[in-house]
This record gives sequence, C-alpha cells and structure tokens, in this order.
Amino acid sequence: MALQGVGVGRGVAVGPILRMPEPLPEPGSDPRTADPAVEYDGVLTALAAVATDLTARGEKAGGEAKDVLDAQALMAQDPTLTDDVKERIDNGLTGERAVFEAFQAFQEMLIGMGGYMAERATDLGDVAQRVIAALRGVPAPGVPESDTPFVLVAPDLAPADTALLDLDKVLALITRDGGPTSHTAILARSKSIPAIVGVTGALDLVDGTVVVADAATGVVTVDPSADEVADAERRIADRKAAQAAPLTDGALADGHTVPLLANLGSPDEAAGAIALGAEGVGLFRTEFLFLGNTKAPSVESQTASYTKLLEAFPGKKVVVRALDAGADKPLAFLNDAHEENPALGLRGLRALREKEQILRDQLTALANAQAATTADLWVMAPMVSDADETEYFVRLGRELGLTTVGVMAEVPSLAVLADQVLATADFVSVGTNDLTQYTMAADRMLGSVASYQDPWHPAVLRLVKLLGDAGAAAGKPVGICGEAAADPLLAVVLVGLGATTLSMTPAALADVRLELSTHTLEQARELAAKALQAPTAAAARAAATAV
Ligand code: PEP
Ligand code: MG
Repeated sequence: MALQGVGVGRGVAVGPILRMPEPLPEPGSDPRTADPAVEYDGVLTALAAVATDLTARGEKAGGEAKDVLDAQALMAQDPTLTDDVKERIDNGLTGERAVFEAFQAFQEMLIGMGGYMAERATDLGDVAQRVIAALRGVPAPGVPESDTPFVLVAPDLAPADTALLDLDKVLALITRDGGPTSHTAILARSKSIPAIVGVTGALDLVDGTVVVADAATGVVTVDPSADEVADAERRIADRKAAQAAPLTDGALADGHTVPLLANLGSPDEAAGAIALGAEGVGLFRTEFLFLGNTKAPSVESQTASYTKLLEAFPGKKVVVRALDAGADKPLAFLNDAHEENPALGLRGLRALREKEQILRDQLTALANAQAATTADLWVMAPMVSDADETEYFVRLGRELGLTTVGVMAEVPSLAVLADQVLATADFVSVGTNDLTQYTMAADRMLGSVASYQDPWHPAVLRLVKLLGDAGAAAGKPVGICGEAAADPLLAVVLVGLGATTLSMTPAALADVRLELSTHTLEQARELAAKALQAPTAAAARAAATAV
C-alpha cells in the first residue's frame, strides 16, 4: 500500500512508525467553584511557565527554530489573550476552560485571516495545550520517546515539537495536515530531515508498521517489499556520500558550469551557506528587516544590514530581492486594504509602486552597501508582470546607483513576454514557488490544493523554457531561485531548459551538486525535452526518472 502526500526535501527514510500521542481531552465546561482571582493567578503562573519553557527550548535549538519558539512564547504572554481569559473566568469558567475557549477564539480568527496567519493557528493551539497541561500538572503532549529510530507520524507538528527533535532517533516526519510552507515543512528543510506533509490516512497506520518515506516523490510505502527496502537503503547511502563529498563548484559531467547559490533570509545565515559550498547568494529575502515593524526601517539601518550581508561574500555574486510584501508575507504599513484574494492583490512590486518612497529607500540602502563592499550586487523586483513594470524598476534602480538590475519571473505573463522583458532587464530569476502557484491557480499556502503546487508540471516547465530561450537569445542570465532548484533531478531539467544558475536552501546544495555531476548538458536537454512533452507533473517526473 502507498500513501501520497507532498514531499519536503530530498531524503528517503525507512523504519517503523510511531504516532504522536492524542491531544489532551477538552476541559469540561462545569462552572467554576474556586475564587476567580485564585483561578486567574493559576493561569498567569501557567502562562509564564510555558513562555519560559518555550524560550528555553528556543535558546537550545537556535537558528530559525528559536525565532519560531520566541514567537510562541510571546503568544503565551499576549495581553489580548490574558484579558480574554480573565473575562471568561470572571463570567464563571474554570481557568482551564477559559484558556481553552480564549485560545480557540483567537485561533479561529487567525484561520479566518487565511494564508500565513492561518498556518500560525497550529502554533497557538500548541501553546494552549501546553498551558492546559501545566494547569493540570501533566506533561505537555509531545514527540514520543523511543530507544530506537522511528518515523514520526502526527496530525501536524508544532514548532516546539520539531525544534528539539532528536535527529538520531527521528528518521522522517509524516503529517496528515500542513502544506509545503507549514512549520513541519520549514523546519524539516532546515534540518535536512525527509518529510511528507498532507498525507491522508497517515494517522490510521499502526505503531511499528514499517514504511519507506520518499520525500522526492511524496510517497509513503507501507510494509515495503525487500526490494523496496534495499532500493531505499541504497538511496540513503548515496545521499550520505553526497553530503560528505568535497565542496566543488556546481558543474555538469561535461564541465558546463552551473553556479550553486544560496537562498538566505538574514545575513546571519551567510556563514552556514558558505560552509555548505554556496558560491554566492541567488536570493536574499529582505522581508526579515520589515516583518513585525510598524514602519519601514531607515536607510541607515538597512544599509548596515545589507553591508553585513555583502561583506560575507567578497567578490561573489549576491542577488537581493526588493521587499516582497503581501499575501503570505503581509506587512501592515504596505498592505493595509482588505483584499478577498491577497495573492492576486497589491503585492510585491505593485505594492512598492504605490508607496514608492519605501522602494527608493531600500534601493538607496542597497546602492550604499554596494559602494562600501566588493561583492557583486544584483537587485531584483518580485511579482513583476511585464516589460513595462520591468522598465519602471530597472530605471529606478539605475537612477539610484545600482549596476545590475533584474526581475523575478513569478507571474506567468512575465514568462510569456520574456523576450520583451529581457530587452530591458539585466537578468531574470525564476521564482518557481509563485510561478507554480499562479500557473496552476493553486494557493501555495493551502494544503487542500498542495498537489497542484508541483513545479514538475509541464505547464510550469514550458514557461521556464520560454525564459531560458529568451535569456539565451539576449545573452543574459536566467537563474532559478524557487524550491524547484532544490530538487536534484528537476535541477538538471531546469538547466536543460536554459537555467544558468540554481539557488536553493543551503541544506539542498550537496544533493544538487551530486546530481548535476552525473549528467552532461546534452543529457539535461534530453531530460527537459521528455518532461516538456508529459501531460502531468507526475508523468514529467517519471519521464525524467526513466531516462
Ligand atoms: C518564489 O516564489 O519561488 C520565491 C523564490 O519567492 P518566495 O518563495 O519568497 O515567494
Ligand atoms: Mg515568490
């Protein structure tokens, strides 16, 4: 039997499953008998203990997990929530019930907001479970303990669960819920653990059942045959070898170079990326400087951040993306209007054009950093639709002192008009995450349509080919910076379609480097030609695998 989900990362794992324990039972709604002040005090103590525990877990885990756990600790101390709990206790509920209802109301509000906020509802639910467990004096539900390695199966994983996973024990993660951007997915990627999310039927598996979890295909093979286990073990060994291989520059088997770059979200990630052999940065997401702020940071503080980033890559290429606010990355001071469909709304370059001073400040700060360092800075705009918008951005970038200015290909219209766009832009970088979302009309944040979010779809590949051909004709680079570049076989196909560089989460560099080294350019073009003719994403993947 096989279950299908959405794979995250490249790995394969084989082992027995263990399921996450059931959540705590819902607190009863019997009226409160204790004094309200005592009851409320108890809740405050529990909230403080949970916040301290989450912060401590964050300290121990470090990195991205720390940010997520700190955010959860803040949720536990949110005055809106504590006020709501107090009011419910005053109205006759027990502390446990008041916590349950107040957190649930907040969660429903987040779910109603959709997108990124809805995915944070799981984090809030986890905080509520921890607080209720603290009030009951029982351990918070969490990852099961085991002396031997296992594949963890859960409805969804909260950041507190994933942050401290014992990587010697947890071979892979399988969740029923969650899309490609859920915390399970984000953390699995950063820790390089195979994960498959959105697997219907996963929770029906019995503890101890052996599975092969193949993140590359998103397939969970239940009770695999001896051959299937042997095949999985061979792939696990190959992957280990790839991780241990020397850090050479990206190249195909015939020596055709394909620079391997890193996707970064903060200058602090630079050292880790360099250690994994990143030859530069192909996508620096600048949102981290803006998220959570009520107004845009000053030119000076942005200059300092960009200078820090560029100083980590002397003489190397660093592609920085202008602020991409909206939809999955909302920012109060840029996206203030209510929109029914924010992914189709005023986001990316469209939002920046409305508030041009924010864009001017950012580009000025980037030009300052360029002047102060030796890195080769390239700057690009997100969510660009056509040559007219390209001209606007390129003109403004040059006016403010930038030398290499390009655009991202995320909206299908831009790919269709690639020749016009490349007449003006110095380069194009393909954001396959959004390009897939818009080509397939499937919200990338929504688990129910996650199967459409597959960059192997021939419709997406044909658009990449239009871009690759236009780049070759204009003699200009066309890089890839979406998640697709982190899929080793797809990375080869993308090179066959004309991609000149590949940028990815640093954890994926080793796998992609190895796969590239086993194909010539001619073979990559053959794989690409096969994939382009396939009728579905699955068929394209199968056609490329069969060659
Ligand atoms: C993309 O859309 O592929 C991309 C790289 O940008 P982001 O994931 O930040 O939207
Ligand atoms: Mg994007």
